[in-house]
Amino acid sequence: MAKPIEDNSKLCIHTITTKPWNLEEASDAYAKNGVGGITVWRNVLDGRDIYQTGEMLRSKDLDIVSLCRGGFFPADSESKRKVAIDDNIKMVEEAAELGAPMIVLVCGAEPSQSLEKSRGQIQKGIEAVLPHAEEHNIKLAIEPLHPAYADTRSAINTMEQANDMAEKIDSEFVGVAVDVYHLWWDSNLKREIHRCGENNNLFAFHICDWKFPLDDILNDRGLMGEGCIDVPQIREWVEDTGFDGFNEVEIFSNRYWAMDQNDFLEKIIHAYKHKS
Ligand code: ZN
Repeated sequence: MAKPIEDNSKLCIHTITTKPWNLEEASDAYAKNGVGGITVWRNVLDGRDIYQTGEMLRSKDLDIVSLCRGGFFPADSESKRKVAIDDNIKMVEEAAELGAPMIVLVCGAEPSQSLEKSRGQIQKGIEAVLPHAEEHNIKLAIEPLHPAYADTRSAINTMEQANDMAEKIDSEFVGVAVDVYHLWWDSNLKREIHRCGENNNLFAFHICDWKFPLDDILNDRGLMGEGCIDVPQIREWVEDTGFDGFNEVEIFSNRYWAMDQNDFLEKIIHAYKHKS
């Protein structure tokens, strides 16, 4: 049995989850409800002083859990791959300025080439960014994405592939982000979560649910308990490895973005306490 959730101190919310709110509104509401952490999506930093933004979040007692999202390394030309690497290096600097200890990588895929070739380019990309990540003390979390996204978003689609990649790169700064939406279907999930923990590579845990039927594979994620994912079971596997980081609610949903965000936050907290 997963340990019961007693309060919101290990709850982190991704800013994209409450997309209609600006960062002041989101952080005020999270803090007022005792939410312990925030994962900042890069779009909300546009036009802001990044250091001051970090100070603002810390002043509300919010832990900045990660900056989302880097990656997108594969491309069909050397020059495009260089642009991606440079952008990830810039993002490492932004994370350091913000005070975020980790960047989540949506690794990318190039549909004109094989997944294997894309995975090779992902590894090269991460290795090119790694010295900068080490210098700034920023961790890089590889997030495997559901195979439905293997065309353009990620050639890394299982925990096994993410573990293989992290172990090949073999750095304390490179690990894996476990997202239940992408991984719940995998019969090797328990084994691979344990393997990830044993290698000290389990960096992050993202939660939501997979509704049925889905209106849209990207923007119709459900609240925990609304779909077919056994979130408490997966949380138990994750916590069995010794992971004691945040449970990060990451929901893209046209339906929830259309509603009053205070009401939505109330639903998130209820689902977190009772269905996670
Ligand atoms: Zn995620």
